Amino acid sequence: MPLLFEDCTFRYSRRTPLVLTGLDLAFAPGHTVLLGPNGAGKSTALALGAGALRPGSGRVGLGRLSAGGSRDARAYRRKVSWLPQRPGFLPGLTAREHVAYIGWLKGMRERDAWTAAPAAIDRVGLADKLNDRIKTLSGGQQQRVAIAGALVHEAEVLLLDEPTVGLDPHQRRRFLDLLVSLRGAMHVIVSTHDIGDLDQAFDEVIVLESGRVRFQGPVPLFDSHAAPDCAPGRRLESAYASLLEAAE
Ligand code: ADP
Repeated sequence: MPLLFEDCTFRYSRRTPLVLTGLDLAFAPGHTVLLGPNGAGKSTALALGAGALRPGSGRVGLGRLSAGGSRDARAYRRKVSWLPQRPGFLPGLTAREHVAYIGWLKGMRERDAWTAAPAAIDRVGLADKLNDRIKTLSGGQQQRVAIAGALVHEAEVLLLDEPTVGLDPHQRRRFLDLLVSLRGAMHVIVSTHDIGDLDQAFDEVIVLESGRVRFQGPVPLFDSHAAPDCAPGRRLESAYASLLEAAE
């Protein structure tokens, strides 16, 4: 079931301007990458999608379930996983304890969360670190533990806010492989500035600017906006630049 924003407005406080001014957005099934300059509203949209923020007006939903509805909120959060830019850890916990704890926070029974944690950790390639304390893991490994936490309760939608920041090229490759392995199992939405080779892991591209959708479409359509004379490895960056220039 795709994530849906219907005529959403949002501002952080009465004194600050609107970040979203009537956002209408229906994500396509599959993996979506969310691009846009700093301040475009990507993190805000993902936090709204997670139900961590509420729109001033309009609706965020998953089919009939509304993120903000008092009756639906629990079921909604169970179906949606969100990894914010700086996920918090209790550093004394082991990888398994952390992942089980996240599952429990998402409404799983304690024993079920504990039993499900190893498979989620295995999925991110850290089976051998199951019982290691998080504080002893590298930055890239900690980030994978955080992703395992987002996978443990078998959500339908996974929202990842700039997950490749701080990853070295090898870790980034593994991350993209992980996304590919999740194809068909869940709908993944990733915000990033890292455009390079995203065509390998994503089906749909959305470009946000100033809280508005500048582009939404499948990767080949996005690619077709590249300048005709650009180098083959730079087509996506070129497409992104020309879409933003066209909007100016
Ligand atoms: P992006 O993720 O695309 O960089 P954000 O969603 O973080 O964009 O920010 C959108 C706008 O909201 C920016 O103008 C930013 O300054 C503002 N903003 C973000 N977080 C807060 C906050 N906690 N309080 C006030 N304004 C915020």
